Amino acid sequence: MVTYSYRCRECGDFDVRAPMGEAAPRRSCPRCGASAARRFTVPLVRRGDPAVWRAVESTERSAEQPDVVSGPPPVSGAARVSRDPRHARLPRP
Ligand SMILES: [Zn+2]
Repeated sequence: MVTYSYRCRECGDFDVRAPMGEAAPRRSCPRCGASAARRFTVPLVRRGDPAVWRAVESTERSAEQPDVVSGPPPVSGAARVSRDPRHARLPRP
């Protein structure tokens, strides 16, 4: 199955999933029923590092469905303590 894009003049873009090579040049809009022309877009070809694609998909998903959190993430391990001796000379509150 392939995702084909169509553009209704009134409602905008919508996608239709159909078998490859079976995209009609025009389809009726699912909202208003008007005839919509097919849009030709860049095919989604995945190349490169899968970790990069996971990050891209996560970013796109969080734009539409952000994760809901109840607080800051827990601090792992002990509290952060600097081992730099210059930090001991800094003024303390
Ligand atoms: Zn429409």
